[in-house]
Amino acid sequence: MKVFNSISEIRENLNQLRKEDKTISFVPTMGYLHEGHLSLVRYAKKNSDVCVVSIFVNPMQFGPNEDFNKYPRDEKRDLQLLQQENCDLVFIPSANEMYGSDYQTFVKVKKYSEILEGEFRPTHFEGVTTVVLKLFNIVQPHFAVFGQKDAQQAFIIQKMVDDLNIPIRIDVLPIVREADGLAMSSRNVYLNEEERKQALCLFKGIQLAEKLFNEGERDAHKIISEVKQFISQHDLAKIDYVEIVDKSSFEKATFLFEGKEYYLLLAVRIGNTRLIDNTILNLKK
Ligand code: AMP
Repeated sequence: MKVFNSISEIRENLNQLRKEDKTISFVPTMGYLHEGHLSLVRYAKKNSDVCVVSIFVNPMQFGPNEDFNKYPRDEKRDLQLLQQENCDLVFIPSANEMYGSDYQTFVKVKKYSEILEGEFRPTHFEGVTTVVLKLFNIVQPHFAVFGQKDAQQAFIIQKMVDDLNIPIRIDVLPIVREADGLAMSSRNVYLNEEERKQALCLFKGIQLAEKLFNEGERDAHKIISEVKQFISQHDLAKIDYVEIVDKSSFEKATFLFEGKEYYLLLAVRIGNTRLIDNTILNLKK
C-alpha cells in the first residue's frame, strides 16, 4: 500500500497505472474509519484493479460553529485498517496542498444543497462538491463509492456528475449499523453512555416508520409526525428534521405511491452531537 501526501506524486503513480489499463476505484473519506467505510473499500477493491482511498477532513465543508477542530482523527489506525483491506493507494493531503493560500473556485449543486441538511448546514454541500470534484480530478477513477448513510450527499454528487458530464460512475452502498442498529459514524465517539442509549431513537424511529408503511400507511405526514412524536420522548434528542422525499428527485412527498421509492431522512441532535440516518421505503420490503 502506497501513501501519498502530494497531488503531483499520486497523479504520477495513477498515470502509470492507467497506462497499464488498470481499472481504478475511489473511496473519499474523512478518516477515523469504521466498518461502514471499510464496506465501501471492500466493494471498491473487489470491483477494480486499483483501489484509492482519500483521507481528508475537509475544512470547507464545516460551518464556523461546527466540529472541524474536534473531528476525530487517527491516521495510524486508519492506515492499518486500509492495509488489512489490501487497499492500494491512500491519499492524505494537507489543507494547504488542496487549497493553497488563494483558493477561489467553488462548485455548487444549487437547489439540492439548500434543502434538508442544507437548511441546517448552509455551506456544507458546496464544500463537499468542491472537494469531491477536486479529488475526482486528481484521482480520475472509473468509479467512486459512497454510502447511503449520507443519502443527500450521494444524490448531490450524482447530480454534479450528470450536470458536469464527469466520466465517473457513482455507486452507493447500504448503511452499515452497530449490532443494536445505530448507524456507524465517526461522530458516534462524541456520545457519552446516556447519549449512546438515546441515539438509538433514530433507528427505532426508522423501524416505526417502516412498520407503519408496511401496515399500509401512505400518508407521509402521518408517518413523519409519529416518528417525530416518538423521538421527542427522548429528553436528550432535538429534531432538526424528519422528512420523506422521492428517492429519484428529492422532492418532498405527501402521498406514498405504489411502485415508487422514497427516503425517510432524519437529522437529530443528541446532546451536542448531530446524527443523521435514513431508510428506503418501498413496497418490495
Ligand atoms: P465520511 O468519512 O463520514 O465523510 O464518510 C465517507 C464515506 O463513507 C461516505 O460516502 C459515507 O456515506 C460513507 N459512510 C459513512 N458511514 C457509513 C455507514 N455507516 N455505512 C455505510 N457507509 C458509510
